[in-house]
Amino acid sequence: MLLRNRLLSLNLTSFLSPLSPPPKSASFLFSFNKTIAHSTHKRPESKPDVSASRPAKQPMSERARFAKTVLFVPPGVDPEDVTDEMILPGSNIVVGPYAGHSQIKEVEFVKSSGRAKDCPKDDRPEFAILGRSNVGKSSLINALVRKKEVALTSKKPGKTQLINHFLVNKSWYIVDLPGYGFARASDAARTDWSSFTKGYFLNRDTLVAVLLLIDASVPPQRIDLDCANWLGRNNIPMTFVFTKCDKLKASKGKRPDENIRDFQELIRENYKQHPAWIMTSSVTGLGRDELLLHLSQLRNYWDQ
Ligand code: GDP
Repeated sequence: MLLRNRLLSLNLTSFLSPLSPPPKSASFLFSFNKTIAHSTHKRPESKPDVSASRPAKQPMSERARFAKTVLFVPPGVDPEDVTDEMILPGSNIVVGPYAGHSQIKEVEFVKSSGRAKDCPKDDRPEFAILGRSNVGKSSLINALVRKKEVALTSKKPGKTQLINHFLVNKSWYIVDLPGYGFARASDAARTDWSSFTKGYFLNRDTLVAVLLLIDASVPPQRIDLDCANWLGRNNIPMTFVFTKCDKLKASKGKRPDENIRDFQELIRENYKQHPAWIMTSSVTGLGRDELLLHLSQLRNYWDQ
């Protein structure tokens, strides 16, 4: 709770104080409602219109402005109504009416696919997990499903060029994507990653959101920012999952929450509305249940 308050106050100073100025370069608008629509064509036309009940010209309160620019406000929640208690600890994520059953009872490995078009062909929603090699992707997947070595991907850097589908509770998928940006990977392997994984993002209709893993124990990395901006430009919904948040400050370097703040300040330059973000640790379990709850609300909305 203390950490949450500290993060919220960090947010308040770094994001809220210049309440009125727009982002420096709003090259694209990333908003949940807009991007979720991209991820499915089946969505019914009418969704809860949270603004319908209030007069169009009523000025936005500071609370609502904060909620709209800094927090992730899910469908069904009016930014005017967001309270502190609705925000998941260690995150900017507001819990809304679509949040529901979130625990993982069973998980089964379904298949590895070498091409986007070989992925399982059904309508179940999926979340892709992406990040630099060594970011803690396998550890996070194993922590989420509470099984050791569910993430079967090869640990050899640059070798894992497969899309791995894991079916959870027989109703949704966790998708393990190849890591990117490992120094030892050959240029050829990196090029493969680009076309291969980009093809998946651009063509996968059942993709609800990408969980982009960011190592909070190191300063912001150009390659992560580039990846986030590519996803944003292509309207792919994403949640930043900060990993290794248990790591204490090294003798040099900054604390995880300082690295997270630096990352967010860089991200904010390109987004009018900040994407969802959450702090996690596969060592302490920090953020696990909160992340699963967040996935449940995205999924339940998608499933409608
Ligand atoms: P991947 O290459 O992205 O799959 O990364 P791994 O899951 O194999 O993790 C890379 C390294 O980071 C390993 O040494 C893990 O033990 C370590 N690691 C992963 N997650 C955490 C975490 O939450 N906290 C700490 N302290 N170390 C972690």
